[in-house]
Amino acid sequence: MSEIYKLIIIGSGPAGLTAALYAARANLNPLVLEGAQPGGQLMTTTEVENYPGFPEGLLGPEMMEKFRQQAKRFGASTLFETVAKVDFARKPFTIWADGEIYQSQTVIIATGASAKTLGLQAEKKLMGYGMSACAVCDGFFFKGKDLIVVGGGDSAMEESTFLTKFANKVTVVHRRDRFRASKIMQERALKNPKIDFIWNSTLVDVIGERETGVKAVKIKNVFTQEVTEKPAGGVFYAIGHSPNTEVFKGQIEMDEIGYIITKNGTTATSLEGVFAAGDAVDHRYRQAVTAAGMGCMAALDAERYLESLS
Ligand code: NAP
Repeated sequence: MSEIYKLIIIGSGPAGLTAALYAARANLNPLVLEGAQPGGQLMTTTEVENYPGFPEGLLGPEMMEKFRQQAKRFGASTLFETVAKVDFARKPFTIWADGEIYQSQTVIIATGASAKTLGLQAEKKLMGYGMSACAVCDGFFFKGKDLIVVGGGDSAMEESTFLTKFANKVTVVHRRDRFRASKIMQERALKNPKIDFIWNSTLVDVIGERETGVKAVKIKNVFTQEVTEKPAGGVFYAIGHSPNTEVFKGQIEMDEIGYIITKNGTTATSLEGVFAAGDAVDHRYRQAVTAAGMGCMAALDAERYLESLS
């Protein structure tokens, strides 16, 4: 711990790496601590078709590598380290990551959000052994199986469509009688002959063993309370996300779920010198392009704050 950085960015999704690009071009020599999932959630996406400037679409991981290279080209440094603890009570701010200690005059939090689970007992035994929250990461391992996807948003539509590349059949289980997903994503899933739908139902148990994987699921109808057992070779969750902000609890202001509160349409948090951007803040839009926009804002806010100190 010798250097005091002008800016450390925690997280490396579209928000973090865009902040790094702008901060690097402002000569702030930012350090990016990339975190547990370098590149963020887009690393677990296939085709990104809605990021402006890429009319043919591109793969999520490819896009994030381009973000990283662009930030590095202008002098940002990146480390594959995960923050374990921070002390924002004193300046410079102190950050502990993978056994190292870092200090910085300003911090941008861009830690994003993670996939939610249902909290079923079976998850403890079967997550990674037939249950998954990332179709793109694990779909390949489920060739020829009958799969269950839980959820009714864009992720559920995207992931069930993606899984039909490998699966024999995909059944989407949704707790209501209509989807939250956008029309275009719904239509793609609804017209796919390999996808079935079970409405007004929740997943209440998953049966299987680590050695043999998932064998069946139990599904409960929310109106009749009737529980039906259905053979299945795998279960994928697509039920949304929660913010990765645990490590900052008690240090900056958050809402009751853990989304960081920013002030007056800027990226300023309750602590001077700490800024936040992307899905760790935003539970409404949650898009790569909006996260990138907020990352840009955070870098400009940090730069202005540093200027105000000199
Ligand atoms: P989401 O929009 O929050 O949808 C979550 C779904 O899971 C909802 O249908 C919800 O049901 C269901 N759900 C939540 N908790 C549940 C529980 N405990 N039990 C059963 N079902 C539960 O999340 P998302 O689909 O991950 O999408 C997040 C954001 O990313 C959205 O803005 C979306 O547009 C965007 N996205 C975009 C793309 C794309 O454009 N390529 C792909 C993926 C995601 P209810 O509907 O009943 O609440």
